[in-house]
Amino acid sequence: MKRTIKLSPSNKRWIAVFAALLVCCILSIILIQNIGGRTAVIYKDGREIARVDLSRVTESYTIPLDGNVILVEPGSIRMQSADCPDQICVHQGMLHDAGRIVCLPNRVLIEMQHTKDAADAKAG
Ligand SMILES: [Zn+2]
Repeated sequence: MKRTIKLSPSNKRWIAVFAALLVCCILSIILIQNIGGRTAVIYKDGREIARVDLSRVTESYTIPLDGNVILVEPGSIRMQSADCPDQICVHQGMLHDAGRIVCLPNRVLIEMQHTKDAADAKAG
């Protein structure tokens, strides 16, 4: 015995509504993650020394550290120069919304943070 389920027009409408809601949810999650994911946290010797919301940077500026110079630009951050022998941190390029730059010899870490952490920073 074979039965085919036919969708009535009202069922089809509900499916369309749910699909639209689902798309809205996914879009808002992506948007929230993009906003929250643009905070760069800079660590030196394992201690947090600066927190930069890259989405709010309007002009480029540098953060000089002992041995390193970090360049902050609108929407991105990178290691401009370093006195470490390997220069790996400088060659790691720019960070936009994810990832990290590590300078092992100078114990410097630049890390992009996730939505939850950014929200916590705002609340604190
Ligand atoms: Zn380095």
